[in-house]
Amino acid sequence: FAELIGQKISDVIKKFMELGYMPTINQPVDMDAAVLVADSFGVKVEIVAPEQLDVIEELVEESANLIHRPPVVTIMGHVDHGKTSLLDAIRQTKVTETEAGGITQHIGAYKVSLQGKDITFLDTPGHEAFTALRARGAKVTDIVVLVVAADDGVMPQTIEAIDHSKAANVPIVVAINKIDKPEANPARIKNELAEYGIVPEEWGGQNIFVEVSAKKKIGIEQLLEMILLQAEIMELKANPNRPARGTIIEAKLDRGRGPVATVLIQSGTLRIGDAFVAGTASGKVRALIDDTGKKINEAGPSTPVEIIGFSEVPTAGDVFTCVEDEKKARQIALARLQKQRLAEAARHKKLTLDELYSKIKEGQIKELGIVIKGDVQGSVEAIRSALEGITHPEVKVRVIHAAVGGINESDVMLAAASNAIIIGFNVRPELKASNLAEKEGVDIRLYNIIYDAIEDVKKALEGMLEPTL
Ligand code: GDP
Repeated sequence: FAELIGQKISDVIKKFMELGYMPTINQPVDMDAAVLVADSFGVKVEIVAPEQLDVIEELVEESANLIHRPPVVTIMGHVDHGKTSLLDAIRQTKVTETEAGGITQHIGAYKVSLQGKDITFLDTPGHEAFTALRARGAKVTDIVVLVVAADDGVMPQTIEAIDHSKAANVPIVVAINKIDKPEANPARIKNELAEYGIVPEEWGGQNIFVEVSAKKKIGIEQLLEMILLQAEIMELKANPNRPARGTIIEAKLDRGRGPVATVLIQSGTLRIGDAFVAGTASGKVRALIDDTGKKINEAGPSTPVEIIGFSEVPTAGDVFTCVEDEKKARQIALARLQKQRLAEAARHKKLTLDELYSKIKEGQIKELGIVIKGDVQGSVEAIRSALEGITHPEVKVRVIHAAVGGINESDVMLAAASNAIIIGFNVRPELKASNLAEKEGVDIRLYNIIYDAIEDVKKALEGMLEPTL
């Protein structure tokens, strides 16, 4: 530890002793104390789990290999403010002219080039897609271009887009669109946005504003320049000399080609023949196709590329990682699938009367929720008051719903959401309800003697219930 923080062992030990610790040279150090000791030498310590260690080592090694990478941009804004038009305008001015005769292909993202510098645009606009990816833990966007129509102003989805970008800590470049319209009023837009903390640089704020017309193709180059300027400030870097890593942007089952997916490469370089895993899908790169429909042999950082060679259709937002070989890829995918199934089974498994006692003993249950359905009001009420009268030192019995009628889907959903059991008295579940209960793992108990129902609950609470088969 002393070596790591670059201090003399004796000094480090002294500091530990000041904190009330008596470490010897070959004893592991207390983590909290270590943070304090390092801090007193002006060194910041970050505690990582052992399984993260190789990631850290990789990062250190990588920092030597880092080079600039293009920014990845998502366009957001209110409906009809011109997100799609802007994506098209950018693409038309910058892509087709360079790729003479090239067919533009929609693969979920495209790359444009300005004065030798690239920008990657994700071409599913809007904050829904952005947040859906983020909800899966993927961070793909470096810069958000917020489109606001100059003839309209800040609208509900503009505000949502601002909040989603802020939550993700992604800088916003504002494109005031439709400035070709006579009623366009860019000054008003700036004022309105300032209320939400989006302030132009000339007003002392942090945000770059550009006035554009997607329709008349005004200001497009300038917008790209400003995106590059923003990217420069951010010093976006990646190591191209390592196995590729990225995120699935889009995936589909293609009739002729099988499962295909667009991956945004985020570090490393992907090549034909590389083995990979993405979520529970694995495979080997058979073909790489770029956003102009051209077959390519390799793709580096910030490049969107369509990949053929997946075993199955992966899920958008999944992390894509290259591994040594196909066998390893399959093993990882299979292990993930098993883990996923276990997690699903655990999630679906709701409380049953049979396991109530063991759950109580494990301290997992503090309350037993019960839904009661019966044939007549009198018996429903009788069961309710008898159950509510049961006292137990650790568990409270709570009737969350009691009504006359057969057990229906709504009863099952309520029980599933509340981790409750269902008691039916002289009634049966509807077919749809029993199917749902099976799927959700909800315990339904049917009785025709009130006493039996009460006794079963009491016995279950005491751990005396005869197991059912
Ligand atoms: P989105 O819903 O944000 O993707 O908006 P669209 O790109 O579909 O544009 C909505 C409407 O605004 C369309 O009818 C476009 O033709 C129009 N539009 C987009 N950009 C401009 C512009 O710069 N000027 C004018 N006058 N109309 C525009």
